[in-house]
Amino acid sequence: QKAEWAKLVNEQTVSKDGQHVELVANIGTPEDVKGVLENGGEGVGLYRTEFLYMGRTQLPTEEEQFDAYKTVLERMDGKPVVVRTLDIGGDKELPYLNLSKEMNPFLGFRAIRLCLEEQDIFRTQLRALLRASTFGNLKIMFPMIATLGEFRQAKAILLEEKAKLQAEGVAVSETIEIGIMVEIPSTAVMADQFAKEVDFFSIGTNDLIQYTMAADRMNERVSYLYQPYNPAILRLVKMVIDAAHKEGKWAGMCGEMAGDEIAIPILLGLGLDEFSMSATSILQARSQIRQLAKEEIKGTIEQVLNMDTAEEVEQFVREKF
Ligand code: PEP
Ligand code: MG
Repeated sequence: QKAEWAKLVNEQTVSKDGQHVELVANIGTPEDVKGVLENGGEGVGLYRTEFLYMGRTQLPTEEEQFDAYKTVLERMDGKPVVVRTLDIGGDKELPYLNLSKEMNPFLGFRAIRLCLEEQDIFRTQLRALLRASTFGNLKIMFPMIATLGEFRQAKAILLEEKAKLQAEGVAVSETIEIGIMVEIPSTAVMADQFAKEVDFFSIGTNDLIQYTMAADRMNERVSYLYQPYNPAILRLVKMVIDAAHKEGKWAGMCGEMAGDEIAIPILLGLGLDEFSMSATSILQARSQIRQLAKEEIKGTIEQVLNMDTAEEVEQFVREKF
């Protein structure tokens, strides 16, 4: 089987009925790009920039960040690279920021919340990204967006830094897409409004599931509630995809669910445009998608939205696809 998958490295990801979707990879460091290319990734769907900030004693400089982003963009050679701005907090700590301990870190001061408050950190990262933007196909994505206000504020800061750089005579790409992670239920519910203002969505199911089911993604005692196939999750996913398409935007997914073999037929049928997963899952997913007829699935898949349980959904997919 592995040998069969290996033949697909340079193939496009096309369903049996000829519809293209994008299979891209999640990375944490510039070194990870090698694995993406070896496994036939069509781009990077999530560059988790936290790793640049972790395992050290102070913040990375603008120069260090610029080097890392430029390296990734150059190595990806014009293929899309979605870089997520700093998503620290929750399970990802930065001791040198001396943040106070919280009762509920996953519901607390993290990601975009921290960046909008500690703007020096945010602006430094944005400047590094903007400067790197001319070296490839950069898309910038904000994590943990809960309200339109947060998105507007983050985007305004980005545009401010862009204007400053341009005033300094620094070249900045004019075609950078600006999108958000949809990983908080409020944002999925409001996706129709967001879709008018963002360039794309990337659904972060790792967090979206935990927040929708109110089940800590790290807590084994409640892991039975961590249900990617729960119709509640699938309905939210559909809302996000439909909202994006209605405004002519694209919707991807960068949570673990995007590479899951039960989820893939459902997501394909719901119209997901981009699947971002660990590089080692790409060829298997490509092989699976090549055997699925998208239009045919579309006709039956919406049934799962009206099922009662995750188990029922899983059984349906196993029998049908
Ligand atoms: C997610 O929440 O689905 C996601 C991709 O982000 P992370 O796993 O880094 O929180
Ligand atoms: Mg997340």
